[in-house]
Amino acid sequence: MDKQRILEKIRNAGVVGAGGAGFPTHVKLDCFADVVIANGVECEPLLRTDRLLTERFPEKVVAGLRAAMTAAGASRGVIAVKKKYTKTIAALRPVLRDDITLHLMDSFYPAGDEQQIVYDVTGKVVPVGGLPLDAGAVVQNVSTLFNIAEALEERPVIKKLVTVTGEVGKPSVFNVPIGTSVKELIAAAHGPSDTDGYSVIIGGPLMGRISHDISEPVQKTTVGIIVMKTSHPLIQMKTRELAKDLQLARSVCCQCNFCTMLCPRNALGLKVEPHKIMRAVALGAKDIDSINGVFSCCDCGICTYYACNFSLVPSRIMQSVKAQMIKQGIKPQKTVAHSVSGNFENTKVPVSRLIRRLGIDGYDNEPALAEFPTVKTVRLPFKMHIGVPARSLVKTGDKVEAGQKIAVCEGLGADVHASITGKVTVTDKYIDIEGR
Ligand code: SF4
Ligand code: SF4
Repeated sequence: MDKQRILEKIRNAGVVGAGGAGFPTHVKLDCFADVVIANGVECEPLLRTDRLLTERFPEKVVAGLRAAMTAAGASRGVIAVKKKYTKTIAALRPVLRDDITLHLMDSFYPAGDEQQIVYDVTGKVVPVGGLPLDAGAVVQNVSTLFNIAEALEERPVIKKLVTVTGEVGKPSVFNVPIGTSVKELIAAAHGPSDTDGYSVIIGGPLMGRISHDISEPVQKTTVGIIVMKTSHPLIQMKTRELAKDLQLARSVCCQCNFCTMLCPRNALGLKVEPHKIMRAVALGAKDIDSINGVFSCCDCGICTYYACNFSLVPSRIMQSVKAQMIKQGIKPQKTVAHSVSGNFENTKVPVSRLIRRLGIDGYDNEPALAEFPTVKTVRLPFKMHIGVPARSLVKTGDKVEAGQKIAVCEGLGADVHASITGKVTVTDKYIDIEGR
């Protein structure tokens, strides 16, 4: 199959980056690269989604990777996983050929960060304001590659593997129709029926966000659901008001520099210096020579959840400064400020230590793939991707079949397909389907 045909099939199936922000895959792969890297590292603690998917469907991951290589004109494919994923490695080895190799990484956080992987695989650093393509690479999550393989067989993205863990009786990985409510997944994992006193993180413990309404639907990008007591220090830090964070930054930050010393993007030579930004924001200092580095902050949370001994949140301050700069029309200068730190290896944070530091070692179990009850209703947002929302192709009262295209995206974005068979209700943001 040629490049254009592959991109067309990916677009038709509504494939977006399944492990990140949901960038449309047909746009990302419309490029020329030397290497396509499959990201199966899954570096956020507690999540098992990508590992289980790769163990169960290694041929699909490889087929998706090969299609991605054709689309991007790349002669080389690499599957990056952690050395300790022995079952995943054993599943992959028999299905690899000469054009695709395994790349084994240490168990550090954030090993799954796109730029860490690119450096580990190619030895090249992605500049501030740049893309992996600047290093000749395209990175695709293994779940996205699975969806590409399905797209080649005309099967659109209508299901999602999601890890459900934390304060639940049966930590599990479920394969659910997109649009299933988070509440149903928590119930299926034997979570608390009354969520008073509990909070729910959507995503991983570090980069995930707090859900404000657990009736929200699973989306194409949802990878994890973590139930925790609201009193847990991690939840307390995640829910603190920004104004309070700024006040604490002003009164408590001692400029010890630990956040910058342990910042993985700073170690790559990208001049990401959260301690200076803390000083600037808290004290109004103007002598900031590292403002461009803010654009390279990936919100990994190492500075906040691991480095700072005073429970300050430099990562949130960095993201807030970045958002303000983008709003003001400030653009990053494409540059690598320094060479990779000689201390690079020593700044890698072992996942086991990070888990203990976060106080989530009690949840570090091995959730298994589990059956999920039949889903009766789903809610499909018009926007589960970066770009513009899709436009409905159906109207309230219409009957749809699972897999049918129900919304189309005319600009940057992705089409939406019915994840169950049933009758639709269309609102301004969603299409609800009541199952037959
Ligand atoms: S680690 Fe904490 S106290 Fe030290 S400079 Fe960074 S934010 Fe300030
Ligand atoms: S979140 Fe903190 S540690 Fe991570 S890249 Fe940004 S500044 Fe560096």
